[in-house]
Amino acid sequence: KQLIIAIDGPSGVGKGTLAKALSKKLHLPYLDTGLLYRAVGRKMLDMGLSPDDEELVRQAQNLTEADWNRNDLRVSEVDKAASLVAARPKIRAALLDMQRHFATTQGVVMDGRDIGTVILPNADVKLFITASTYVRAKRRWLQYTNDVDAIDKDEQIKQVEKELEARDLADSSRAVAPLRPAEDAKIINTDHLSADAVLQEALRLIGV
Ligand code: C5P
Repeated sequence: KQLIIAIDGPSGVGKGTLAKALSKKLHLPYLDTGLLYRAVGRKMLDMGLSPDDEELVRQAQNLTEADWNRNDLRVSEVDKAASLVAARPKIRAALLDMQRHFATTQGVVMDGRDIGTVILPNADVKLFITASTYVRAKRRWLQYTNDVDAIDKDEQIKQVEKELEARDLADSSRAVAPLRPAEDAKIINTDHLSADAVLQEALRLIGV
């Protein structure tokens, strides 16, 4: 039987890095579900729609791989738009079947906010990844910056930290599928772990 692995956690915690490494190591398909919400957020901005527009629900239902593989989805305005559309029950419902289908045939590593709680409650392994906001902001900043020695580096990191905190608050306080660990999730705090150490710990918890 092919493994189904659910990975959840807040923004910038290294879920994607871990999920990609696991998918490679275990030869499982990978789905980054954040991209689905980002793609819908992008449509909302591009088409000038509101988050409650029925047209946006139709767009979500008809989302294609080309939509979520666009390379303009990891920008600050789309971070916010994704979080906004993700709080709408109809948008989440429109993306549900697509996510479940992805997991049926060859196993999967799927990451997001509600994979262990809503999308794949019967996953073989559920991991919940955490880290302090400062560590997450610093990692995200390092990912995006062109100048690691910028004189206003601390302020830049603080700004990223503020945006992460706002998105965490929105994601964990919304009524539908709030961010929280599933009861049977195993927690990994990555504050003091390298990406490889996180992978090793995940493999240990998965038991392979
Ligand atoms: O993971 P990422 O930062 O790309 O996700 C973007 C946004 O999409 C999150 O802030 C969250 O609001 C939403 N999301 C979600 N459920 C998921 C994945 C992402 O609500 N499974």
